[in-house]
Amino acid sequence: MTETQLRETIVEVGRRLYARGYTASNDGNISTRLDDRRLLMTPKSVCKGFMSPDMMVVTDLDGKKLAGDRDPSSEMQMHLEVYRQRPDARAVVHAHPPIATGFAVAGQGFDAFVLPELILQMGRVPVVPYGTPGTPELGDRVEPFIAGHEALLLANHGAVTVGATLDAAWIRMESLEHCARIIFAARALGGPVELSGDAVARLEAQRAAARREPDA
Ligand SMILES: [Zn+2]
Repeated sequence: MTETQLRETIVEVGRRLYARGYTASNDGNISTRLDDRRLLMTPKSVCKGFMSPDMMVVTDLDGKKLAGDRDPSSEMQMHLEVYRQRPDARAVVHAHPPIATGFAVAGQGFDAFVLPELILQMGRVPVVPYGTPGTPELGDRVEPFIAGHEALLLANHGAVTVGATLDAAWIRMESLEHCARIIFAARALGGPVELSGDAVARLEAQRAAARREPDA
């Protein structure tokens, strides 16, 4: 994708996050790699539903601004931590989808395998201990978790997903919230029934195969 296409895709992902109620006010942030040493990310203090491509900020991998009229996202450190540790991750989406964030507020990750799409998209989703939003603390909290996970719940805050493309990171965020809604409903109906070990192993093999073909 060209830089123009990446700017337009960030705008589109922001629109979807806002349209689906995964962000309110100026919540959330989105970033992607431009090349080996530069990132493109959403600016601080804008509603993600009403962005334009020219608003984006270009930074290096340490978060130093290289281009753009605005300041980069206040939660940039969390994004930088992902890119430092995950050469395979080319995009990061952070939002506050209400049901998944409800699990994060309750301190409950997704550690039981109850839905195929949860296993195919992201596997286990842990809760990262609380760090003050908009400070480097958030990057420090995410640091021990990001190597082994495609999605994280941030305690008392929200969720973050990574992907080989912006679209892949967006799809994970949508799937995370969808699974959260289903698990919440299943609990109201007496509690989810876990998949068998065999079924989980087959799904995990499919996820591993998809990971070997990053654009699949
Ligand atoms: Zn946030």
